[in-house]
Amino acid sequence: MKNKKIGIMGGTFDPIHTGHLVVANEVLNFYGLEEIIFIPAGDPPHKKGTMAGSFDRYIMTEMAVLSNHKFKVSDIEIKKEGKSYTLNTLTELTEKYPDAEFYFITGTDAVIELPSWREPQEVLKLCRFVAVSRPGISMDEAAVKISEINKMYNSSIELFQAPMLKISSTDIRQRFKTGKSAKYLLPESVEQYIIKNNLYGSNDLR
Ligand code: ATP
Ligand code: MG
Repeated sequence: MKNKKIGIMGGTFDPIHTGHLVVANEVLNFYGLEEIIFIPAGDPPHKKGTMAGSFDRYIMTEMAVLSNHKFKVSDIEIKKEGKSYTLNTLTELTEKYPDAEFYFITGTDAVIELPSWREPQEVLKLCRFVAVSRPGISMDEAAVKISEINKMYNSSIELFQAPMLKISSTDIRQRFKTGKSAKYLLPESVEQYIIKNNLYGSNDLR
C-alpha cells in the first residue's frame, strides 16, 4: 500500500523563482502531499554562456526552500554528468521510496513537450502527473493538448489551475543582465546570492 504522497518538481531552476514556489505549494495543499522534492537538472553537455552551473543552481534552490520544511532538494540529477532522463530519475526515486505515490509537477509549457521525452508511457506509469497552468497557454488550450496526450498514452494527466504568475527564469536572467530589478520575483536570499556571485552578468546591481 502506497502511503506517502510525494511531489516532484524538476527544472533547470536557473534561477528558482516565486512562480515555482507558489505553484508547488498550491499543488501540495490541494493533493495533501507530505513533501515536494525539487530536482535541479544537471548541466547540459554544451552549456550556454548566460546560465549558472549546477552547483550554483542547487545552492539557490536550497536557499529558496529553507523556510519550508515540506520542500526538499535532491542532488540526484546534478551529481550526474550531462542530461538526466526523467524516467531514470523516477525509477531511482521509486526504489528509494518504495511506499510513496509520486506526483510529478510540471507547467503546461513543459507537459506539452512530453511526447518528445524518453519513453513517456513508462514515465506516466511511475507517477501521477499534474500539469499546472502557466501564462502563455490558456486553460482551454492546455486541456485540449493534455487530452490528446492522455489519449495517445492512455494516461490520466491532470490539469491544475494555479495562480497565473507571469514569472520565468529567462526574464529574471535578462533583468540581471540589463541591470533591472527582479525584486519579489524570486526569494531575497536567491537574489542576494546572484548579485554576490556575479551570476547572469549582474555586476551592475552591486
Ligand atoms: P526558463 O525560462 O529558463 O525555461 P522557467 O521559468 O521555465 O525557466 P524551469 O526551471 O524551466 O523555469 O521550470 C521548471 C518547471 O516549473 C517547469 O515544469 C515549468 O513549466 C514550471 N514553471 C516555471 N515557472 C512557472 C510559472 N510561473 N507558473 C507555472 N509553472 C512554472
Ligand atoms: Mg522553462
